[in-house]
Amino acid sequence: MRKWCLSEVTLKHIREQGLAEVAVLPIGACEPHGLHLPYGADTYEAVAVAERACALAYKRGAKVMLLPAIPYGVDSNLLSFPMTIHVKQETLNKIVSDIVFSLERHGVYKLVLLNGHGGNDFAGGLRDLYGQTKVWVFLINWWQVGKDKLGEIFEEVGDHAGEMETSVCMAIVPQLVHLEDADDGGVRPFRFEALKKGWAWTTRPWERLTKNSGHGNPSKATAEKGERYLNLVAERIADFLTSLSQTPIDDWFPFEHL
Ligand SMILES: [Zn+2]
Repeated sequence: MRKWCLSEVTLKHIREQGLAEVAVLPIGACEPHGLHLPYGADTYEAVAVAERACALAYKRGAKVMLLPAIPYGVDSNLLSFPMTIHVKQETLNKIVSDIVFSLERHGVYKLVLLNGHGGNDFAGGLRDLYGQTKVWVFLINWWQVGKDKLGEIFEEVGDHAGEMETSVCMAIVPQLVHLEDADDGGVRPFRFEALKKGWAWTTRPWERLTKNSGHGNPSKATAEKGERYLNLVAERIADFLTSLSQTPIDDWFPFEHL
């Protein structure tokens, strides 16, 4: 039994151990990842990062509890690929809000969303939730946690199913990676300068953008690179969980006392 994993512990254990200070909720997606990674990649990754971070934080005395993951994400722009499952952001926000109110009822007032899918965007929903609950919700997109070190670890980081994501999957679910099937992850550039520069945004239909849903060349991916990045990310998140666990919610939370 991993004492920080809600799916594995018992009522007896919870009664003896007491409630967690911080709950962690991984959120993934169900979508194709090029020709070589599984549909569940985003969920496997978010769960693996959450498990590593919670295990480390727990070892350091943090009262953390990993909640069961949400395995679906916002995927309207990948629905042209077979068996993509799209769940609206509105629906995800409702699930998150229901989980928040359950936690509040139990007296768990800190929740960290560990998002594993770029199409999920919880910021608006969390702003709407502010003021309606005592629970403080934090949002982490795990792949961005170590972005200052990406260039040291990877030759061509890539985006969806590229070198970084493929390396991470090779580290956590090597039996589900089929690098021999991968294409080069080439994508079609935008037609407009504003979109190329990034100051204008639009949703990207991935059947137009990509060849087979992959974005970025995975050919240089290795399990060792994935392990390095995972360790870095898990360490940083574990530090955050530990200080969250130790910090009481007072009038100035989450800011410094001046
Ligand atoms: Zn992914």
